[in-house]
Amino acid sequence: MDTIFALATANGKAGVAVVRVSGPDAFSAAEALAGDIPAPRRAALRKLRDPSGAVLDEALVLCFASGASFTGEPVVEFHLHGSVAILRSVLRVLADLPGFRMADPGEFTRRALDHDRLDLTQVEALADLIEAETESQRVLAMTVFSGALGRMVEDWRAELIAAASLLEVTIDFADEEVPVDVSDDVRAGLLRVRADLDRQLSGMSAAERIRSGFEVAIVGRPNVGKSSLLNALAGRDAAITSEHAGTTRDVIEVRMEIAGLPVTLLDTAGLREAEDPVERLGIARARDRADTADLRVFLLAEGDEPELEVRPGDLIRQSKADLSGDPQAISSLTGQGIEQLLTDLGTTLSERVQRSSLATRERHRVAFLEGRDCLDAALRLLDLGPERYDVASEEVRVAIRRLEALIGRVDVENLLDHIFASFCLGK
Ligand code: GDP
Ligand code: ZN
Repeated sequence: MDTIFALATANGKAGVAVVRVSGPDAFSAAEALAGDIPAPRRAALRKLRDPSGAVLDEALVLCFASGASFTGEPVVEFHLHGSVAILRSVLRVLADLPGFRMADPGEFTRRALDHDRLDLTQVEALADLIEAETESQRVLAMTVFSGALGRMVEDWRAELIAAASLLEVTIDFADEEVPVDVSDDVRAGLLRVRADLDRQLSGMSAAERIRSGFEVAIVGRPNVGKSSLLNALAGRDAAITSEHAGTTRDVIEVRMEIAGLPVTLLDTAGLREAEDPVERLGIARARDRADTADLRVFLLAEGDEPELEVRPGDLIRQSKADLSGDPQAISSLTGQGIEQLLTDLGTTLSERVQRSSLATRERHRVAFLEGRDCLDAALRLLDLGPERYDVASEEVRVAIRRLEALIGRVDVENLLDHIFASFCLGK
């Protein structure tokens, strides 16, 4: 196997740049550049030299033995001064070493997977972790990266293997005098896993929102103050406000963070009976977007009723408190109630996040659904009596294989290219 190397930190000028080397001959890179192989896991300050003896940089050199490295292979890290010229010279020396080559994007992580240092869900979570922009994205990615989803799958797997084994033992001893009825134990085990799968499936939309953002739509009649509210919430002039009704004809989106969650605020066309065909189109779109949004803020003038169905979690506020003097209302002009509205939005969205599953991807959903289908089939077969135990246990085995694919236990080669396509160089 080749020994691979790449810049592990971002490209460009920096205080420090890390070049990572992984593979069977990694330690010989330390020898070639630093003159010796420092003790594993001890940072050693060394002058790095090219083959002619010229000093390229003074750098920290860190070695990791195969059992204790990210990739599961011998790894060496060079913590260089982050200059383009130093990098180029060090990479050139590495490229000239026999059996060494530049790593492909994601190749370090791929080797970690191949050596069982990470399971497939952790590989995905690592990609998410590197991409994380909000606090909630970081927390979810970190939880999965720490192996939480993998451990859950392992637990299910153990439970299902126990159930299938019970059935198979019963089949083997079917001719014995005293048949033991195992169906209650098996049923209980299958139902436990099934309930977990259900919970994960129902929490997936929240998990998906943590990755891609929640949509919050501001709805109400023209001129009630929707665009002004969007600006007040976002803290900048993102939407055009005016005293002429019907100004906001298209949907305006502003991305922001509320309570650490990624949120897209939508300012929609005012809902009213309109003559103008362009405005009518805007209103139709506003209704659609408000309908599919995760949450709606209904902004009302005195005496208004919400024009759309109000769902659990939706917020209703009266606008222009400064004109009405109503202490319950909000005002984008004076700021009254705006902080509280942000807090309430954060609370509502955070409650949804509490129910989030650890699974975030379509491939997880498919595996959960297929696994659940197999368990349902097995449960139906169990009810038909011992003659069907063999088919029931086969269904349980299929469920196990579906769930194993989640963590990469069974052959998932075709998946890997897809997953690693999202990695950048040096990861
Ligand atoms: P939209 O059509 O619902 O988006 O309403 P706009 O945000 O464009 O506001 C319509 C008019 O109401 C503009 O003249 C705003 O300046 C005014 N307005 C918005 N919010 C307030 C408020 O809190 N107090 C007062 N006095 N005027 C407001
Ligand atoms: Zn508007």
